[in-house]
Amino acid sequence: MTSKPEPKSYILGIHAYVPGKSAASDGRPLIKLSANENPLGSSLAALEELEAPRGFANGAAAYPDPDCKELRAAIGELHGLDPARIVCGTGSGEILNCAVQAFAGAGDEVLFSKYSFSLYPLLAHKVGATPVMAPDNNLAASVDFILDSVTERTKVVLLDNPNNPIGSWLDASEIERLHEKLPADVLLVLDQAYAEYLPQGVDDGGLELAQEKENVLVTRTFAKAYGLAAERIGWATGSAHLIDMINRLRGPFNVTTSGQKAALAAVGDQDFVRASREHNALERGKFVEVIESLGNHGLTATPSEANFVLVHFDGEVKAEEALSALAKAGYAVRHLPSQGLPNALRITIGKAEDMERVAACLRELCGESA
Ligand SMILES: *Cc1c(COP(=O)(O)O)cnc(C)c1O
Repeated sequence: MTSKPEPKSYILGIHAYVPGKSAASDGRPLIKLSANENPLGSSLAALEELEAPRGFANGAAAYPDPDCKELRAAIGELHGLDPARIVCGTGSGEILNCAVQAFAGAGDEVLFSKYSFSLYPLLAHKVGATPVMAPDNNLAASVDFILDSVTERTKVVLLDNPNNPIGSWLDASEIERLHEKLPADVLLVLDQAYAEYLPQGVDDGGLELAQEKENVLVTRTFAKAYGLAAERIGWATGSAHLIDMINRLRGPFNVTTSGQKAALAAVGDQDFVRASREHNALERGKFVEVIESLGNHGLTATPSEANFVLVHFDGEVKAEEALSALAKAGYAVRHLPSQGLPNALRITIGKAEDMERVAACLRELCGESA
């Protein structure tokens, strides 16, 4: 007998998820460009719903709708999907968790590209499976390298598209090729957390694949372009079989009443989503131009389809110096040495005035007049 409860050995392999910073090392609050949150805030219609409603049924005393019926209907209508084949989650994180739990366990492999969402290895470890990283193609995910990395033990492939932290994106023909060559008994999870930031009308075909194929699950979130990160709401669509598995594993009342109402209002306010996408495209373009103008100082930006830019520091100015200079200027950005990116910073596209200050700070650091 041991003196305290012994966790399962694979739980000891987990490093708790590291969230984006919001304060300097001395505790000073910083403007957060480290968690890909929406700088425009939230839809006003959604905010109205978040003002605590009075009365039992609407208020905090009653359990929420366990099936998010109205919200699923609205999502189904927006995307042309059968609501019976949609499931909502406590963030898309819960659904990703359930998807891995349902199909992978000890001795199995969960496969993803080398530079992917930092949650993915945790999801594999949680169920005792082995996380496997496919080699990247110039940092981006490579369909060929993912396929080369599939073994008999591979049960789940996780692909964030657009990707975090690189911002790269695979188009519909690449996703179709990946699905086609993947064994039918391997689950392909297309994590579309940043899909709303793609130019209007552009998509990777994931939602159609999820409707037609038995082994494709698409996840979406209200945390990014919808600006409701605090409410923790995500959803997924796929075959009836996949949705059934997620429903068995998810929490019974996993989306709060306020979250359901806010998300429902947010779905109805597509103007806000459009404004978020347009703001992002405009500010991201301007910011990338500034980085490109500092190319002679070793700064480069990976082309991004998401609401952040990965900036590389390969000259005299190091990523760590830029990180502390930006903190001094009042900004938290994301340094990801633990993900194999010691010479880069992931910078969320914020408000226009903040992006100007961040750009000025980097120019100054390079010795260019700000
Ligand atoms: C932010 C993000 C999510 C969203 O997670 P939630 O649990 O919905 O907040 C999912 N996937 C990726 C790749 C992300 O960057």
